[in-house]
Amino acid sequence: MPAASGSGQIGWRTVQRIVIVGAGLAGLRTAEELRRAGYEGDLVLVGEERHLPYDRPPLSKEVMRGEKSDTTLEPREFFDERGIELLLGLAATAVDPDTRTVTLVDGSVVDYDELIVATGLAPRRIPGLPDLAGVHVLRSIDESLALRADLDPGKRALIVGAGFIGCELAASMRCAGLDVVLVEPQPTPLASVLGEKVGALIARLHVGEGVDLRAGVGLTSLTGTGTGTGTGTGTGTGRVSGAVLSDGSEVDVEVVAIGVGSVPVTKWLGGAGVQLDDGVVCDGVGRTAVPHIWAVGDVAAWQLRVGGRKRVEHWSNAGEQAKILAAALTGALESPADQLPYFWSDQYGVKIQALGSVTATDDVHIIADHGRKFLAYYERDSILTAVVGGGMAGGVMKMRGKIAARTPIAEVLGAVSV
Ligand SMILES: Cc1cc2nc3c(=O)[nH]c(=O)nc-3n(C[C@H](O)[C@H](O)[C@H](O)COP(=O)(O)OP(=O)(O)OC[C@H]3O[C@@H](n4cnc5c(N)ncnc54)[C@H](O)[C@@H]3O)c2cc1C
Repeated sequence: MPAASGSGQIGWRTVQRIVIVGAGLAGLRTAEELRRAGYEGDLVLVGEERHLPYDRPPLSKEVMRGEKSDTTLEPREFFDERGIELLLGLAATAVDPDTRTVTLVDGSVVDYDELIVATGLAPRRIPGLPDLAGVHVLRSIDESLALRADLDPGKRALIVGAGFIGCELAASMRCAGLDVVLVEPQPTPLASVLGEKVGALIARLHVGEGVDLRAGVGLTSLTGTGTGTGTGTGTGTGRVSGAVLSDGSEVDVEVVAIGVGSVPVTKWLGGAGVQLDDGVVCDGVGRTAVPHIWAVGDVAAWQLRVGGRKRVEHWSNAGEQAKILAAALTGALESPADQLPYFWSDQYGVKIQALGSVTATDDVHIIADHGRKFLAYYERDSILTAVVGGGMAGGVMKMRGKIAARTPIAEVLGAVSV
């Protein structure tokens, strides 16, 4: 690849410098795709964390089970060879769209011709919790390693929230020999993502593996051996020893993981004038309404052809959006192809996969239920919208064409043989 020195001819004008803020999966893949699309100008990747871009899915799985401690996506040579300048350990703190500059936390200022926002998500905290050691959230590798260091066999763990991260942590902690209490205010795990019917199958999986699942119950408070500032960051001097749940029950715990969702990292964009509405509001190729500012990955709410504007918090989406954005920015894209959302989760060796636009309020048809293996079709307005499977990759993937073609549900149900 050419070095990132000269300028890049993009469409009708010359772009000297593209700055990507956020050195995660989406930032990395966007930089890579820009070079692949022929952009030869300066390319700068700014990351708050000091690490090279790394992969997050293993943080709740292999890292938590002690099978991996490094999930780096590409070695340093990858960036050198492509002329991608890395500014790591430096958070962006402000953007001025008039002067087209980004200010970094050390006071330095970086000029841009085009700015791409790829700052991802931050874990949601529960306000008012005492600041006790042993209380964790999970988004970064540092947080993952800190939680992992707290997991000794036989310890009693409380996981708050049975979304994907909470469920994966429960599975990994059982695998690591801990006693696990999993609390979830909804009637089942993953109810708000996959609906209660499939949620019930996932509940059965966890209970079968020995998790003490308390559905319909939330966390009221934590108790410990000290007091703190109430940020729930686990950096205080006391250590967590117990929890009070919303049904009034009390549990003794030695480690707590909070998995109650994440919020888009957009505060630093305050003065930029970009529209924020649960993420950075974009068109169908990642462009915001502010000239020369784009967004990609978990932080970005793109306008999808089907399903309206949506933020998608899944791994495959980051790579797909990176490709579309790079093509649009370099003028190579006429109109974006339809994206078919896909995500997976691993729990107790069962690969749970979802293909299509899954909504918890869809009608769900359980097509197969063989204990640890299951398959479900999702229906909205009599159309097949998505397929979710556990341990049934073939059954999920073979429906790609049918979902993309918006096949009537009656047709696919009539053809079922699993
Ligand atoms: C524990 C875990 C497990 C997951 N498992 C799965 C899975 O099994 N399947 C699946 O499909 N998806 C999974 N995901 C989701 C997937 O990892 C994300 O969709 C993906 O990481 C999104 O990439 P991103 O680059 O948009 O955001 P991120 O990966 O969050 O990267 C954003 C980066 O921006 C940096 N940043 C933030 N603010 C600033 C700033 N002001 N200045 C500079 N840098 C900044 C952050 O430090 C971060 O490094 C998982 C996520 C987590 C956290």
